[in-house]
Amino acid sequence: MFACLFTRVKEVIPMSDKTAVDVPFMEVNEELCKGCQLCIDVCPKSVIAISEKLNLASYHPAFYTGADCTGCGLCFYACPEPSAIRVTKP
Ligand code: SF4
Ligand code: SF4
Repeated sequence: MFACLFTRVKEVIPMSDKTAVDVPFMEVNEELCKGCQLCIDVCPKSVIAISEKLNLASYHPAFYTGADCTGCGLCFYACPEPSAIRVTKP
């Protein structure tokens, strides 16, 4: 019985997905970003950078460098563009 339940859980939540939602992270909608860098200025972990590429509106969008976000939300509150930043904190 236990083995069957364990197997079902493993099928529903693959380890890679579980790891992805176990740590805080931020995302930038690069088409909504205006490249003002306010999020970079307020991030206490310095985990946001500006892309070299341009979005459709010709701004260099911010992006999450991929590790060490604490989920503090400061970037979200600093950003003047609605919905440009999403912070996930499990
Ligand atoms: S939530 Fe906090 S730590 Fe994470 S990217 Fe935003 S400002 Fe930086
Ligand atoms: S604060 Fe918002 S608009 Fe400004 S660079 Fe960061 S994500 Fe882009």
